[in-house]
Parts: sequence; structure tokens; C-alpha cells
Amino acid sequence: MNKKLLEQVYNTSDFNTNGHQLIDQLTLHLKDKLNETSKKAINWTNPDDELEFWRNFLINGDSNNLFKEITNRTTYIHHPHYIGHQVSPPAPITALTSLISALLNNGTAVYEMGMSSNAIERIIIELICQKIGFNDLSGGFLTSGGTLANLTALLSARKAITKQDIWNDGSQNQLGIMVSEEAHYCVDRAARIMGLGNQGIIKVPVTEGFSMNTDILAVKFKEAVDQGIEIFAIVGSAPSTATGIFDDLETIGKFAKERNIWFHVDGAHGGAGIFSKKYKHTLKGIDQADSVVIDGHKMMMMPALTTALLFKNEVHAKTTFSQKADYLLSDSEHEDWYNSGKRTFECTKNMMAIHWFTLLKLYGEEIFDINVTHLYDMGVQFANIIEQETNFELALRPMSNIVCFRYCAPDSDIESLNILNEKIRQFLLEDGEFYIVQTKLKGLHYLRVTIMNPFTTEQHLKALIAKIKAYVTG
Ligand SMILES: *Cc1c(COP(=O)(O)O)cnc(C)c1O
Repeated sequence: MNKKLLEQVYNTSDFNTNGHQLIDQLTLHLKDKLNETSKKAINWTNPDDELEFWRNFLINGDSNNLFKEITNRTTYIHHPHYIGHQVSPPAPITALTSLISALLNNGTAVYEMGMSSNAIERIIIELICQKIGFNDLSGGFLTSGGTLANLTALLSARKAITKQDIWNDGSQNQLGIMVSEEAHYCVDRAARIMGLGNQGIIKVPVTEGFSMNTDILAVKFKEAVDQGIEIFAIVGSAPSTATGIFDDLETIGKFAKERNIWFHVDGAHGGAGIFSKKYKHTLKGIDQADSVVIDGHKMMMMPALTTALLFKNEVHAKTTFSQKADYLLSDSEHEDWYNSGKRTFECTKNMMAIHWFTLLKLYGEEIFDINVTHLYDMGVQFANIIEQETNFELALRPMSNIVCFRYCAPDSDIESLNILNEKIRQFLLEDGEFYIVQTKLKGLHYLRVTIMNPFTTEQHLKALIAKIKAYVTG
């Protein structure tokens, strides 16, 4: 055995040297992007060239440049011109907590493998539950992403609501859930993983304002029941990803209660609004939910992945993956809060609770209010800018920091406008000064902006519009 090589891998002095160098390099990166010394939000390369670069680098690259190359060849989330997908520019301190988690590698699944992170996680969960408006019976855990959290919540719902014991006996009946046609695709995916199939995913159409049409819930429910489908849950989006529009959680909650089904709120993006005094009204009715998902890595300045899954009644968090029903759990199992892995889908997870705790300890919960409130305010400001432009139109007045809009040259037909807006997006991507995304709503191609960076200003957004105009007219 070549022990020398192993000793080299674990050499503490190399760790120290590389670590200091890396922090210096990342500090420069942060300064460069936050202060816009570098003009670009992305240095776009096409996928095949990127692949070629790394194939070559593995053989010929200088390892001294490895970290630098990785850093440069990414999308610069901290640049104020990054206004694309809904991931946060992480607070730099949470890069350090990520480092702690990575080095200590306490997998948190059982108490001894993460004593601090298990205890800290409970404190975080209690705070979020209280902010939602849940009572003392509530609880939950942190897990690896909104996608996994939504699947877990639906599994909990199925366990709690359906008449049969599916966990032990398998599914005999056709089960179903109700969800807006605009919900994040991961809800559909979760339902399919659970074997519900097409027929078990009752897609509720949206209103003109793109929220779930709650007027037709009763009809949709009856139609499904008449077809022999046992509906066990309804999912509200807070907000839906493409448009940033919130479903009417209050009405959906009432409907769920009347029908005795589970009410799940997918607040992966906007659940953090519980911290915003100004915008918590967007979540009215969230306290009626049986389960709620909130991503820390979206509106809460944390690195991916860290997601809170909260339950109105903690018992459901504990029984999702248990052979027993809730009333069969022993007292000790009920109290067993510190063994996270019994409740989470994943076994090992990273020490994600320490990001939340560190932000709370250093800056107080006010920081979440300030961040969410500011970003939502910027969504409104951007919408105002668009509305003042003659050749631009909004898809909808935004309810959050997600804004869909498009360029619309006069006298153009739908198809050529769709093509034009697609071309605008591609131009912006390859140009790299701004990073934005796109979406299709009812057949129309829209440009989509999510203001995630608290340092993106009105001037930046106006510069984006100017750039699009110059492209279209030039
Ligand atoms: C982002 C998002 C998800 C997926 O969450 P991940 O953390 O990316 O897995 C689910 N639902 C909504 C509404 C989202 O915005």
C-alpha cells in the first residue's frame, strides 16, 4: 500500500496553505462580482467546449489553477446582473459553515453523528413553526432540497390520510392528489414516483391571474371520486415557480378541511415570506397547512441544499417511514427528536442546520425579513419599469421577486414574437452581461427575471431593458 500518498492527502499543512489561498481567491471573486469590477454575470461556453476543456484539464491542466478555473467557469450568482434562477447569492459566512460541515462530515442521521447539528436543527425548526403560526404540536426537520421535501410531505400525507396501510401492504386503490397546473414539476414527479400515474394527478387549471382556480375544486374533486380515485392531498404553491404567483392558501386550506384531505404548501421559494412583515400576507392561510416546505437556499441567503419541512402535527413527521401507525409509536419513539434519519428521506445529510443558526446568531431573524422584503420590493420596481416601456409587456403584476415580461414589437404575430423573445434570451446568455431565464405561459414566450441579489438596483434593471432594446433595434 502506498501510505505516502494517503499521508499527502491528509497533510494538514497543505490544507492550511490551500485553504488560505482559496479564501483569498474567493474574496477577490466576491469583490469582483459584488462591485461589478467584472462586467459579466456569466462567461458562457457551449456544453461541448466546456466538456472538452475539462477533459483536457484533467491531463494537461496546472493543478494550481484548478480552483480558479472552476470558479471562473460558472455563473456568477453574486453579480447584481445575475437575475435568473431562484438560487440565493449565499451570505459569505454560510460558505464557511459549509466548510465546517464538509470537513467534520457528521452525517446527522443519528444523534452521535451530529450532536450539535441535531440539537441546532430542532431550534431552527421550532422557530420556523412558530413563524408559520403552528402550535406546540408542530415539528419537522431539514432535508436536501424542496424536491425531496415535497415528495416526503406527500408520503406523510398518504400515510396519514388513506384508509389502507400502503407502507406495509402496497397500494390497492387508485390514489390521487390535486395540484395547480402551474405547480413546480417536482410535485408531478413525486406523484409519479408514488405510483399515482397520470390519472392520479388532478391538475387544477389556473385563473387569468395564474393562481389555482379554487372555484372548480369541488367539481374536480367530485369528478375524480366518481372515477374511483381516492384523493388524499391538495398542494398549494407559494408561489408557483414560473410566474411567482401565490395560490389562495386560505381557500385551499378550507377546502382540504371540508374534504378531510391533507393540505400541503410548497413554499420552497416564498415560504420565507413568513419573516417579512410587509409580505407575509402573501402566505395567508399557511398556518392551516398540514405540511410546509421552505428552501433556505432560495430566499434565505444560504447555500444549496437546505430545506425545512414543517408539520402542523409532528407525529406525521415521525411516522412517514415507520412500519407503525402513529398511535403505535412508543413513548420513547415519540421523544426521539435527536435521530434525524428516522424522519428524513435521506440517511446521511450534511450539517445544514448550522447555516440557519449562524445567520440567526450573527444577524438575528430580522435579516430574513430585510432580504425577502427588499427583493419583493424590487420585483414591483422592475414591473413598474416594464410598464413604462411602450414595446414591453408584463405577463402579470408580480406578487414576489419573480417577473415575467416580453418584448412586443407592434404589428407582430404571436409566433414571430415568440421567436424574437427566444432570440433575445439566447443573445443575453451568450453575451453574458446579464443572466436571465425564460418561460412559456399559455403559449407565449416570456423572459423571466428573479431578483435574488439585494444589490441589484433599478439602474441595473434599466440597463437590462436598454440592452434588449439596443439588440432588437440594432
Ligand atoms: C425551487 C422550487 C422547488 C424545488 O426545490 P429544490 O430545492 O430546487 O429541489 C419546488 N417547488 C417550488 C415552488 C420551487 O420554487
